[in-house]
Amino acid sequence: VDLNGCLNPEATRALVQAVRMLETASLDDKSSSRVLLTTHVNPDGDAVGSTIALAHALRDRGTTVDVVLADPPPVYCKFLPGVEWITPCIPSMPPDLAIVCDAAGIDRIGPVDHAVKVARQTIEIDHHGVARPFGDVRVVDDNCAATAELVYYLLTALKAPITPAIASSLMMGLVTDTGSFRFTNTNTRAFRLAATLMEAGADLSRIMDQVYDQKTVSSLRLLERAISHLRIANSFASATLSRHDFQQTGATQGEAEGVIGHLRSLKGVQVAAVLRETGPAEARVSLRGRPGYNVAEIAALMGGGGHAAAAGCTIYLPLDEAERRLRETVYKFLDQIKKSVS
Ligand code: 5GP
Ligand code: MN
Repeated sequence: VDLNGCLNPEATRALVQAVRMLETASLDDKSSSRVLLTTHVNPDGDAVGSTIALAHALRDRGTTVDVVLADPPPVYCKFLPGVEWITPCIPSMPPDLAIVCDAAGIDRIGPVDHAVKVARQTIEIDHHGVARPFGDVRVVDDNCAATAELVYYLLTALKAPITPAIASSLMMGLVTDTGSFRFTNTNTRAFRLAATLMEAGADLSRIMDQVYDQKTVSSLRLLERAISHLRIANSFASATLSRHDFQQTGATQGEAEGVIGHLRSLKGVQVAAVLRETGPAEARVSLRGRPGYNVAEIAALMGGGGHAAAAGCTIYLPLDEAERRLRETVYKFLDQIKKSVS
């Protein structure tokens, strides 16, 4: 495999091993060899795009795949050919091989973890910096803008043809994880990959339209609610969304996804958070940080994780208390950064 040094040496070695495993999976008795594909709970564009791209490539090679996700794909991914393969149903037979995309730990894939644990072998494909390893083979490189980039290298090494369907799936991952090439994970390789995927027939205009220009009125009403609860202090912006807010606007939890971007984009804000009430004493927290503010550290302090620029956690407290707890943690974190700078 010649990746021209795109990946770190460990990931390159793991990629070679993964190729071997996949070659065996397709050569074995096809009727009995099964590959399970999965990704993290509440999947985003990269999670779904990476998984679907792999599903296409393996099916094109004649391998039987089960695409098992704990949660349904986001609405903007539903046009991707192959999303119809996604099911929450765990197959009764243990898979010969499980491939887990974009998940920093086996605890991130929800109830699908049972199926992965009984698989004969597991391949992990991921770009998280901090992860709890679980795979037999780990194709992990945090210099990759998206897991989709790693999947692209794997498919190239497998000499799998990049069909337009695969190109669009990978482009979905690349576009959403880089915030359309705005976030600091955007590097020259991301642009090269984008160009290659365009050549392979990725439908970029459709992706952009689905991701950015298909907003529902209920999501806008939810944004209105979030803004009415906005608090900004010490360069930290936060907003809460209660169950009442969701009921009143008719918005789904998924429709809250865009809110955090508005907070992050505010002048003077370094760290932004949206807290969603998901139970009487349970709040889901989305965190975003500007360069120099590693919000994965904040999330980790609260039992979560993620990337430097985008992370999350769950706080098991009533919404208002959860926000208070989060504020304390963020202020301490910001104080430490201030001290280390001065
Ligand atoms: P989001 O705000 O979109 O839900 O999550 C942003 C990123 O943070 C995700 O891509 C994921 O990497 C990470 N993340 C979110 N929630 C959790 C969590 O509870 N635990 C861990 N380890 N990572 C999380
Ligand atoms: Mn990702």
